[in-house]
This record gives sequence, C-alpha cells and structure tokens, in this order.
Amino acid sequence: MLLLKLSPVLALVYATTAHTSCGGGGNRNLEALFRSHVSPSTEIASSYQINFSTVVGPRWSTWEAPAWSGAIKPALISDLKQIIKIAAKNNIPFIATNGGHGAKTGLGSFDGININLQNFNTVTVDAVNNRMTLGPGATLGAMVTEVFAAGKEIQTGNSWCPGGIGVTLGGGIGMLMGLHGLMIDDLQSVELLTASGETVTASKDENEDLFWGIRGAGQTFGIVTAANYTVHDQTNGGFVTEANFYYTAAQNRSLWELIATFDNVLPAKLSLQTAMLYNATTDTASIWLSAWYVGSLDESQPYLDQFAALGPFATEILNLTQVEVYYQSVTRGVCGTGHLLTAYTMGVGRTDPDTLETHFADFVAFSRANPAYFGQSYMQWYSNKVNLQTPADSTVFPWRDVQAWWLLENIILDDSLLSAVDDWSVLQRGNFHATSGFDDEHVYVNYAIGDEGPAAWWSEANLPKLRALKARWDPHNLFGKGYSLE
Ligand SMILES: Cc1cc2nc3c(=O)[nH]c(=O)nc-3n(C[C@H](O)[C@H](O)[C@H](O)COP(=O)(O)OP(=O)(O)OC[C@H]3O[C@@H](n4cnc5c(N)ncnc54)[C@H](O)[C@@H]3O)c2cc1C
Repeated sequence: MLLLKLSPVLALVYATTAHTSCGGGGNRNLEALFRSHVSPSTEIASSYQINFSTVVGPRWSTWEAPAWSGAIKPALISDLKQIIKIAAKNNIPFIATNGGHGAKTGLGSFDGININLQNFNTVTVDAVNNRMTLGPGATLGAMVTEVFAAGKEIQTGNSWCPGGIGVTLGGGIGMLMGLHGLMIDDLQSVELLTASGETVTASKDENEDLFWGIRGAGQTFGIVTAANYTVHDQTNGGFVTEANFYYTAAQNRSLWELIATFDNVLPAKLSLQTAMLYNATTDTASIWLSAWYVGSLDESQPYLDQFAALGPFATEILNLTQVEVYYQSVTRGVCGTGHLLTAYTMGVGRTDPDTLETHFADFVAFSRANPAYFGQSYMQWYSNKVNLQTPADSTVFPWRDVQAWWLLENIILDDSLLSAVDDWSVLQRGNFHATSGFDDEHVYVNYAIGDEGPAAWWSEANLPKLRALKARWDPHNLFGKGYSLE
C-alpha cells in the first residue's frame, strides 16, 4: 500500500523488480495462476502493481483494512467460479467484497486476495410480478433507483453506498421496516456459489435450512451471485416526508423522554434517527433528529408537531422521493470514505432517557477532551410491528424485538488515540446493554465491530444449527472472515 504513495516512476521501477508474491499461500504469481482460466476482461493485479488500486474493491474505513496481497475483478460469474476453485485448491485466502463497508476486528492481519464483485452491478425489476433480482455488485442506491423507476418499493438500509446483497445478508434494517419487515423478509431465493465452486439455490423450497442461515449470517457460506426479492407498490407515490430538527444540548433530556413515549407504538410509517454532535470550533454540542414519514406532510403532522413543540433551534421539512432520501438527504454524508473509523453498537429493548442523557454528557466530555476525536453517536428507531408478526425461528437473524439501534461512529484523526477511543466505546456499549432490558446482548451483525461474538450476533440458541450448516457448506472456512462462528 505504501507504494501507492510513491511517485508513478518509482512505483514502476518497484513493480518491475519486486518479488511476485501474493501472500496467503506462499509466493504466487496471480497472472500465472488465474489468467488462463478466466475471460480476458477479468482484471488481475498484485498489490505492488500500478493498476492494483483500480482492481481492488473500495473500503469505507481505513481501520483494520486488510493488507491485500492482490486483487481480482471478475468480468463474468463463470470467472468468479473459476477464481474460487483455483484459490481454494492453492490455499489462497480471499474476501469477496462489493461496497467495502464490512470493517471487522482482525481483518487488518488478513493475508490474502480481494475478489472485487463490482462488475456485477445489475438490478432487474419485474413490475408485473412484483419481483426484483440483484447482482452482487449493486449498491443500495442503484437498487432503489431502479425499483423506484418501476413504481415499486422495497425495505432497504438508509444510505446509497453499501452493497445491496451485503446489507441483506445480515438482515437489512431501515426506513421501510415498519411496513415490510427486514430486507431478508422480502428475500425469496438466492444463488450461492459454494466452496466447491458449484452454485446452489436456497429458498423456502430448496435447501431450506441454508436459506434460514443466509438470512442473517449470509456472509459465511459462500458468495451470493444473485438474490431474488419481492417488491411492493409504492406507499404515498414513493414520497417521504423528511423532517430535520436541531436541538441544543440543554434540550436533550426532553427529547429522549418524548421519544421514549413511542416505544412499542411507533407508527409503521414513522422512523426516527438522532445524531449527537459536537462542534470543537464553537465548543457546542447539539442533537439532530431526522424523522422520516412514508406518507404526506398532513398525515405526519401530529407526530412532527410533538417534536416541534420542544422548540428546536432549527427545523427543515422536506418532501423527497425515496431515491432522494438516499442521495440528497442528510444521510448521504455517512458514505464518505478514507477515515480511520470504528463503529460500536447495541440493540436496546427500551428507550431509557437516563442512559441517553448520561451517554450524551460522556460523548461531549470525551469529544472536548480529545481534539483528534470526531465522533457521531446515532440512535435509530424503526417500528418492529412486522418483525414481531414474523416467526422468530424463520431466520437466523434473531433480534426482532429491538426498539432502537445505537450506533457510535468514531472518526479518529490521530492513531495514538485509537485505544482510548476503544476503551471509552466499550464502556458506553456496556452502559447501553445494562439498561437495554435484555439479558443477552442484541447486536446487529452488520453494525458489529467484531468483538461481540456469535451469540450476540445470532443468539446462543441458533448457534448449533448455524455451526452444522457451516460444516456442511463451508467445511474449510473459506468464507466469512471477520464473522467467526466460534
Ligand atoms: C455508511 C453506512 C451505512 C449503512 N447503513 C445501513 C443501513 O441503513 N441498514 C443496514 O442494515 N445496514 C447498514 N450498514 C451496514 C451494512 O449493512 C454492512 O456494512 C454491510 O456489510 C455492507 O455490505 P458491503 O457490500 O457494502 O460491504 P463489504 O465489505 O463489501 O461486504 C461485507 C461482508 O459481506 C460479504 N459479502 C458481500 N457481498 C457478498 C455476497 N454477494 N455474497 C456473500 N458475501 C458477501 C463480504 O465478504 C464481507 O464479509 C451501513 C454501513 C455503512 C458503512
């Protein structure tokens, strides 16, 4: 990676003289191993080559970024099959990525290659039969754009940048959850490329147990080469009322108390997201609340009036299409890349004003004491109405009883602060768990940092079945780096 910072001339000299090592399996020449088995448009690069940065997949956070020894960007699904077979046969570890948002503890010491799925950026909508098929290179933004153009909608995450299948495989939480459940609840079937290089279908009718495991732990069995979903007619013609309220630090307690009144009764069309913010220049803290209502302003007004009554210092009311929510709303900012960023999370079963007030005070104090720390602490409230109607044992995703998801995003401008930020974040996470109303930790695997462990991601009760599936479909543990079942 250091090479990327050298001048192009120096890099060329180095590239022509460097040893042809691809790591993770000894000294290998990637071209020699893979080229004759893949189509000409497949791109292959070792990490010391000049074109490496255009072949390797993107990464959201620089934290624990794998030190890739090389990368391959297959042009065809048949190329991908060959790559898996050859890598497995030659003991070359790999991680297949799309959006590159999966930052997990331990990936920094990964020694192997990246398989970049971004060429498979396909979204096909069949509006007549309410179906949609995603390729493994499509982002949420690409997906929502096509689904919207076809007059349909589907539950997704709230930002444009993560991979559509990547989000699905952990569950898929977001703004339309109150209406349609998790993203996995609209998943009808997947095509899975397995460790043996074969493709199998998993659905409620075929390989049913595998389909159970794909819906929440889908990173661990193989590569999903196509995912088929149900889509729905648009609610409110595809328009969303987005209300942004900005509160002073002094108002935080009243805000948490108001939000707590929505526990268990949050309307299906309403989602709430807060962000705790600290501005070092002015030494002021504030809270931004974004309320999304999948309906008209008139319909949402009784709810918005309650938040307006608290007296925010700024308010913005927008009428956005579902696509504009991705590309134009305040959430687009979270897609920025290139930061040293860690994220800590916990799902809670109740909104506890005391915990939130204490956390806000801690957040402000920590930010003030550490000028190289730039954090944002989010809470997300989605209606779990549909979730609670869905049988708990239908998917390995176990946490359908969560009221709110806490997500702390730490941007760290000075590496030496990393361990202090970790210690502080772990403490905060413990505080959220202590008052969550749950004995066992409820952690959304797609938000997880990686140290929580499999029982927190998939529940203790689900682990025996999940491990049996892993032994059946990926006995040599080729897939799911960072998502250990042990
Ligand atoms: C800015 C941002 C916003 C987010 N918003 C939301 C949100 O609103 N809702 C939500 O639910 N989540 C959200 N997430 C979390 C997101 O679901 C996870 O980070 C997810 O893993 C992203 O997938 P990716 O393809 O972008 O990442 P990658 O790093 O490319 O992949 C993540 C993991 O999934 C595996 N994987 C990817 N594609 C496949 C495939 N086709 N088959 C098998 N394994 C595969 C990879 O090998 C890797 O282990 C957000 C994350 C970020 C950073």
